[in-house]
Amino acid sequence: MEHIEHYLRIAQAVAASSRDPNTKVGAVIVKDGMIVSTGYNGFARGAPEDWESRASKDRFVIHAEDNALLHAGYPNTKGAIMYTTHRPCGRCAAKLVQSGLAAIVCPLHDGFTEEQVVRHGVRLASKYLVDNGVTLTRVSNSPYYQYGPTQPNYGVDHD
Ligand SMILES: [Zn+2]
Repeated sequence: MEHIEHYLRIAQAVAASSRDPNTKVGAVIVKDGMIVSTGYNGFARGAPEDWESRASKDRFVIHAEDNALLHAGYPNTKGAIMYTTHRPCGRCAAKLVQSGLAAIVCPLHDGFTEEQVVRHGVRLASKYLVDNGVTLTRVSNSPYYQYGPTQPNYGVDHD
């Protein structure tokens, strides 16, 4: 469990770099015990940051998981584990499968509201990941840094 806590702490630290005023997400890709890359949610380098416009944000913001994948590049992601502060969304799920990740680990309680879960297609994304061979483990913790047993998730939300 120590390494899970370690990497989830790092994901949380990475998330703090996000300038999103509402939701800060961090992701860390680990392969063979080494950090391959990290990412947080934000607009493209040099692009204007319009956090207030929902249309602009939903269309142009790059999610933490996506940034981590972009920074790592295939095949560095193949067989790797991603630790992330939040459950992946529908936009990211297919890319996470395509990247060849073996597993995703995130907190059981990630702070997503039901509205966010629905808007981002989070439940469908979880099912998609598992159906396509990516293990999704949501770690019981409250708040982020205290751990209980891990439990697999098969697309059903337990919280
Ligand atoms: Zn996403």
